[in-house]
Amino acid sequence: MRKIGLTGGIGSGKSTVAKLLAEHGFVVVDADKIAREIMEPGSPVLDDVAAAFGEDLIAEDGSLDRGELARRAFVDKPSTEKLNSITHPAIRAESERRFAAAEAAGEPAVVYDMPLLVELGMHRDMDLTVVVDVDAEERVRRLTASRGLDEADARARIAQQIDADTRNAAADIIIDNNGAETDLKPQVERLIEKIRQF
Ligand code: ADP
Repeated sequence: MRKIGLTGGIGSGKSTVAKLLAEHGFVVVDADKIAREIMEPGSPVLDDVAAAFGEDLIAEDGSLDRGELARRAFVDKPSTEKLNSITHPAIRAESERRFAAAEAAGEPAVVYDMPLLVELGMHRDMDLTVVVDVDAEERVRRLTASRGLDEADARARIAQQIDADTRNAAADIIIDNNGAETDLKPQVERLIEKIRQF
């Protein structure tokens, strides 16, 4: 089974490309979704997060106050690293489980939708790395228009991420999403052609 890593900066259109690939029948493993699932009530990861950042983050019903966790964890680098050291191994392990399940099901390929693919060096475990690329200014426009982020927040999130040149350098294929959403279609079709050639 081939592993296709799909990444890009926030607001670049990863989810949009992943959706197109899913429509073509590809199994998509969504790392953001896994990140939410590993912190569902009762999970061991949630216990570790509470032990590190405060038991009061967990409400009566067992759910996590994500906003408050973000405020406590993203204040400085050591705190951010502490949270990442709890969550990243769990995300990686659950992703691996899903790859194995897809392989056992006889899937020829799996698409790994992972915002931090290059940051975590996981592109090295992929057979093909696809980066969705959009100029930062256009990403700010899209994030403020459609995700309800304010401009300062959008810029701060972009600034926290790896720079585009470094990410693009890790790509086997770059999908240019500066144009209209309809321009993605032929690029995704070329990508699928490439995956099928494996
Ligand atoms: P990511 O998953 O990389 O953060 P999304 O796929 O959620 O990005 O795209 C961010 C926003 O931009 C979404 O609202 C999406 O509908 C929109 N979008 C994606 N591609 C385009 C495009 N080519 N033109 C305009 N808007 C787009």
